[in-house]
This record gives sequence, structure tokens and C-alpha cells, in this order.
Amino acid sequence: MPPKNTTKQTSEERKAKQREYEETHREERRAKNRERYYAHLEERRAKHRAYEEANREERRAKNRAYCEANRDKRRAKDHVYDAANRDKRQAYEDANRDKRRASWRAHRENNRDARALYHRSYRAVNRDALSVYRRAYQRANSRKYISYNQNRRARKLGNGGSYTVAEWCALCDWFGNICLKCGTDGILSVDHVIPVALGGSNTIDNLQPLCKSCNSSKHTKTTDYRDPVMLAAFLEAQKGK
Ligand SMILES: [Zn+2]
Repeated sequence: MPPKNTTKQTSEERKAKQREYEETHREERRAKNRERYYAHLEERRAKHRAYEEANREERRAKNRAYCEANRDKRRAKDHVYDAANRDKRQAYEDANRDKRRASWRAHRENNRDARALYHRSYRAVNRDALSVYRRAYQRANSRKYISYNQNRRARKLGNGGSYTVAEWCALCDWFGNICLKCGTDGILSVDHVIPVALGGSNTIDNLQPLCKSCNSSKHTKTTDYRDPVMLAAFLEAQKGK
């Protein structure tokens, strides 16, 4: 039996030596690690992708379940964070606005067909609901629509003149919101006393509220149903506005 090594290392000495080794071989070790890392990079990525692929549905389901379960918690957290970082967020928004818009635009461009398909099928499925909504919107905004269309028509014909929704509403109010021919208080349409087709101007002093049926039966006659005294007072009152 050979004699045992009597110069036994203490654990402190061993650790010091190890540290020294580490120090002197650091670069070497790092280079080796790097080499190993890059040598298997593609392989590792492929593996990762395959795993993701194979477990996609499971992972999504898990994420969804987690989000569902923690919705309130997450929202509360988001609120707190948002409140504390409002300025930061706004600055980020401002700094990245163009980038975000460009990315949206690109996304829309790239998904044009899919989007069109989606919208078409949405409209088909929701046809009735949409038409109810559209009618309600048009009713609520009919005066806006009317003035827009009339102004456009007069401009096209070159008659000149335009009026605002506020003026038209004021005129209807002034005459009691009724048809000046038959007295009904249904939906009122704009009638040009001197028709646009005959060169009548598209200004408030050439307008009178008539119901649809009276308006269409008037055709291109030049019948003024406005009380002249009331009209003069109205136009006088409008001047001050
Ligand atoms: Zn009428």
C-alpha cells in the first residue's frame, strides 16, 4: 500500500483552489458554453416549436381558464397599475402612435379578404338587427341627413345657399313642429318654397316644414304655406344669431 497523502486539503483550501480555477478559465468556459449553445440551437428550436405545436390547444385552454378564473384580480391589478403609470403610458402611446397605426394598416392590408368575408357574413347573419338599428339611427338623425342631402343637391345644381341643422330645427320649432299644409306632427321634411329645380335658393328663408306626403304632392309648385308675419319675425330673430 502506498502511503496516503498526508498533506490533506482543508475544505477552505479546496474551495479557494476551485475559485482560482474558475477565475483563470472563465473565458474558456464561456466559449465552450457558447459553442454548445449554438451547436444545438436549431435542434432546440425545432423541438420547442414541435412541443408548442403539439400542445397549442391545451395551452390555450389553460390560459383561457386561468384568465377566466382571475379576471377580477387581473382587472384590479391593471387598474392600479394604469392609475400609477398614466403619464408613462400616455408618453408611450404618443411615441408609438405612428408605429401602431402603420402596424394596424399593414394588418388590415394583409387580411383584406378574411376581413371582407367576416363582414359579409356578419351582415348576412345580423341583417334584421342591423336594419332596425339603421332605421332608428336615421330617424334620430333625420334632420342632419336631410340638411346634408339638400345642401349637397343645391350645391350640385349651382343654386347656392346652405342652411344648418340648427336653423332648420329652429324653423320647425317656430312653426310648432307641424306640417304647414295639413297640420300633422309626424316626421317633417324640408320643402323649398321655390323649388331647387326652379332655381330656388337653399337658404333658411326659402324653407318650410311639410310632411312627406304633402311635400311630394306639392311637386314643383311654388306654394308658400308660411304665415308671412310669423316668417318675418323668425327671420328677424335669426339675424341676431
Ligand atoms: Zn302634410
